[in-house]
Amino acid sequence: MSILKVARIAHPVLRAPAQPVAKSAFKDPLFQKLIDDMRETMYEYEGVGLAAPQVHEGLQLAVIEVGGDDERSVAEVPFMVLVNPVVTPIGDETLRSYEGCLSIPDLRGVVPRFKKLKLEAKDRHGKAYSLEAEDFFARVIQHECDHLAGRVYLDRMESMRTLTFIKEFEDHVHKHEQ
Ligand SMILES: [Zn+2]
Repeated sequence: MSILKVARIAHPVLRAPAQPVAKSAFKDPLFQKLIDDMRETMYEYEGVGLAAPQVHEGLQLAVIEVGGDDERSVAEVPFMVLVNPVVTPIGDETLRSYEGCLSIPDLRGVVPRFKKLKLEAKDRHGKAYSLEAEDFFARVIQHECDHLAGRVYLDRMESMRTLTFIKEFEDHVHKHEQ
């Protein structure tokens, strides 16, 4: 497995809509290796998700894994693969919370996201699945699926006034949230 180079904002691959994954790809060892490499890359940079355009592949593919955190009421999400995902919001309730992105290093900002959604996608073997997600899990899905449409979280921020460096976030923001 290899750790892949992560594209940073202003690289055109992050702004181009990703192409659907073709049926034939699932049997391609290179496609399976890409998924394994994306997993490794996500771990290396301590992300909770990674979309293929972030590693210079314009495909509708993302990986997610969330370690649970009881203190922050974040539910654990085991490693999962999203191929050709479709997101449908459930209800119109939104939540505001800080997000970061491996393609926009060192920064965080407050982004509104739908609280609850339905995800329909294929797994790494091409098997279709669907699930309902809410709260942080739903936020990660929305963040990764945005990447597949050429969007980043900055586009979703209602105001740039919450934009913060991670160090200053820990020093000045996080402290007051607890
Ligand atoms: Zn991101």
